[in-house]
Amino acid sequence: MIQKPRGTLDLLPESTPLWRKVEQACFAVSRRFGYEEIRVPTFERSELYHRSVGEGTDVVQKETYDFSDKDGRAMTLRPEGTAGVSRAVIENSLYAGVMPLKLSYLLSCFRYELPQAGRSREFYQFGVECFGAARSACDAEVILLADGIFKELGLSPRLEINSIGCPECRARYLEALKEYFSACRDQLCETCRGRLEKNALRILDCKNESCKAISKDAPLITDYLCADCKTQFDEVKELLDAQNLVYTVNPRIVRGLDYYRGLVFEFIDESIGAQSTLCGGGRYDGLIRSLDGPDLPGIGFAMGLTRIILCLEQKGEPVPAQKPDLYLASTDPESAKAAFTLAQALRERGLCATSDLVGRSVKSQMKYADKSGAGYVIVLGDEELQTKRARLRSLRDGTEQVVDIEDPDALKKRIQEGN
Ligand code: ATP
Ligand code: MG
Repeated sequence: MIQKPRGTLDLLPESTPLWRKVEQACFAVSRRFGYEEIRVPTFERSELYHRSVGEGTDVVQKETYDFSDKDGRAMTLRPEGTAGVSRAVIENSLYAGVMPLKLSYLLSCFRYELPQAGRSREFYQFGVECFGAARSACDAEVILLADGIFKELGLSPRLEINSIGCPECRARYLEALKEYFSACRDQLCETCRGRLEKNALRILDCKNESCKAISKDAPLITDYLCADCKTQFDEVKELLDAQNLVYTVNPRIVRGLDYYRGLVFEFIDESIGAQSTLCGGGRYDGLIRSLDGPDLPGIGFAMGLTRIILCLEQKGEPVPAQKPDLYLASTDPESAKAAFTLAQALRERGLCATSDLVGRSVKSQMKYADKSGAGYVIVLGDEELQTKRARLRSLRDGTEQVVDIEDPDALKKRIQEGN
C-alpha cells in the first residue's frame, strides 16, 4: 500500500468543516480591515526565496523542497507566502493602484522539517500583507487584525512584540552580539558558529539547548534601537494600549526570516505543546526593493492553521455539523427514479438531499439514512407515486407529516421549518 509522504497531512471529512470555519473567519475578519485575497504559485524560482527569505536562514539552508524542472531551472516549493506575494505585487505592478495595498492569502507551504505535533512538511498558512504604509498605525492595525481573527474563533493566545530595528541600529546590535557570542564560541552548535560571522541574529533563533542557554544573557536589541525606531515602537505600544490589547515586549523575538525590520510579533498558545507559535509577523520595508521593485514598505503576518485547529480541538470546539437535510428512500426501480428526481429538485432549491445509488433494500436504506445523520426521511413506493403524497418523517423526534411529493417548494419549506 502506498502511504502519504512523511510529514504530510490527510485532512479527513470529520475535520474539514472546522478547517473551513477557521478559513472563513480569517477571510471575514481581514475583509473588515479592507484586505482582498490573492493567490500565487505553489512553486517559484529558487532565487526568489534565496533573495527574500535569506541565504542564512534555517528555511533556506535546510528546509526548502528544491527541484530542477525539465529545462533544468532551479525551482522551490514555497516555504512561506510573503516572497511570492511580493513578487506578484512587483510583476503585476499592483503598487500602481490604490495604496496601501492590502492582500490576504491562504496557502499550503512546504518545509523539510522534523514532523511532530504542530509541525509538518506540508502545512497551511493564512496570511496578510500590507504594502505602502510605513506608519505605526499600520503596524498596530495588522496586530489588531490577527487578534480579531483569534477573537472571532474564541481563542486568546498571548501577544508578544518586539522591534528588531532598522539596518542602522541593527548593525550596532549585531556588533554587540558578535562580541558576546565570540566569547563563548565553543559552546555554540556548529551551525551557529557559522552564523557568528554571517548573521549573529540567527543564533537567538536557534533551537539547540546549549545555544538557547547562552542566548539568555545576550545583549537585547531594545537597548540598541535608534531614536526613530524607538519612537515608532513606542507609538505602536500606545496604539495597542488605547485599544486595550494586552501584550508583552519580548526582546528575544527575532523571527526566522531575514527580511524583517522594525516591528515583529508573535501570538503564542502553549496549550498545544512545544510548537506553540500560532502566528508570526512583522515589518519588512526593504523586501520589495531587494526584489527589484519600488521602494515600498510592507508589513504582514502568517498564521499556522494546523496549530489553530489543534487549539480549537484542545478547547473541545465542536466540528460544525454537515448533515443531509433529507434522505429519499425507495422500494422499487420506479420509485427510485422518482426519489432521484425529487432529490435533484430539492438540491436546486438549496437543500442537501440524497437517494439510493447502490440498490439497497428499504431496511438498509433506512439504516444508511440514520447513519448519515439526515434530518428527515421519506419512503417512496407504489402508493406514494399514485397518491402523490408521502410521509415526511423527522429522524430527530420521529414525528411525521404528509407532504405533496410534486411540490418541492412546499416540501423545502416544511423541512426548513423543522430545522
Ligand atoms: P517555528 O519557530 O515554529 O518554526 P517559523 O518562525 O518557522 O516558526 P513562520 O515562518 O513565521 O514560522 O510561519 C508562520 C507560522 O506558520 C508559524 O507561526 C506557525 O504557526 C506556522 N508554521 C511554520 N512552520 C510550520 C510547520 N512546519 N508546520 C506547521 N505550521 C508551521
Ligand atoms: Mg521554522
